[in-house]
Amino acid sequence: MKVGFIGLGAMGAPMARYVHSKGLLTAVGNRTQAKADAMAAELDVRAARSAANFADCDVVTLCVSLDADVLENVAALAEVLKAGAVVVDHSTVAVETARRCAAMLATHNIGFLDAPVSGGVEGARNGKLSVMVGGDAAVLERARPAIEAYAARISHMGDTGAGQATKAVNQVLVAGINEAVCEGLALGEKLGLDPQRLLPTLMAGAANNWFLDKRGATMLRDEFAPGFKCAHMLKDLRIVQAIARDAGIRTATIDQAIADYAELIERGMGESDTSALIALKRG
Ligand code: NAP
Repeated sequence: MKVGFIGLGAMGAPMARYVHSKGLLTAVGNRTQAKADAMAAELDVRAARSAANFADCDVVTLCVSLDADVLENVAALAEVLKAGAVVVDHSTVAVETARRCAAMLATHNIGFLDAPVSGGVEGARNGKLSVMVGGDAAVLERARPAIEAYAARISHMGDTGAGQATKAVNQVLVAGINEAVCEGLALGEKLGLDPQRLLPTLMAGAANNWFLDKRGATMLRDEFAPGFKCAHMLKDLRIVQAIARDAGIRTATIDQAIADYAELIERGMGESDTSALIALKRG
């Protein structure tokens, strides 16, 4: 199996390395060419300059930023991949984007899986991501050896779009947990509690969670290197808000989180980790 990987950012770069560790990586591509060139030289794989450089790949995985980036890459890949190949998109985008990608590729008999991931940069670096897949079960089996390289769990959630729908649910929980942890730790600071004692105490009880564990200590030291950028969180939450409004649920958590990340971006913190939210909570 030959695998191509497009999008070598905080998530994509370590994921591509796991594909390489399984002996499957053939070509890498990235918007900023220097990143692809550096990884290709280091791993002795092809540095792609255009979609045509992925033409011999059986599977091409994407982990890029926005809906427009996914659509642009998929449109180009549709013209060059062979029938029977599979495109796997790990970016977080709208359900409608996933459907458009699947339709574009289907006319060329190329498979598509929407397969957003959760587990953060730590999950990508450890090869232990939760992968939420929408699409045809037989297409998933064709791409499985590539996805397995960086997955702790691969969940087939249903037809095209079901992966992105699952990720939308995931992001409601992530946004709410971030709100609660940042507000709680800002309160802890104001009350003069010792972080060395506060954090392990919280983590030993019912308040324990991934974000507290991975970001609690760093946010209290005002360290906000991403991680997961505020700009990407706002992008995700706008997708989630549209889905939630259509579904008719109350969206208080989502609405508050959107207002908060929009404010952080206005304050110039779009490229900071989402734990920068504590700066707002401090008042
Ligand atoms: P990132 O660090 O900003 O990386 C995005 C990468 O994609 C960059 O290397 C970028 O190139 C490349 N790229 C963007 N548009 C492209 C295009 N049109 N063609 C080719 N390459 C392109 O972002 P990330 O944190 O890895 O996140 C990537 C996706 O995964 C996003 O959709 C995000 O929401 C999702 N996600 C992130 C996390 C997380 O914790 N970080 C967790 C789960 C899901 P440049 O070098 O030019 O910027």
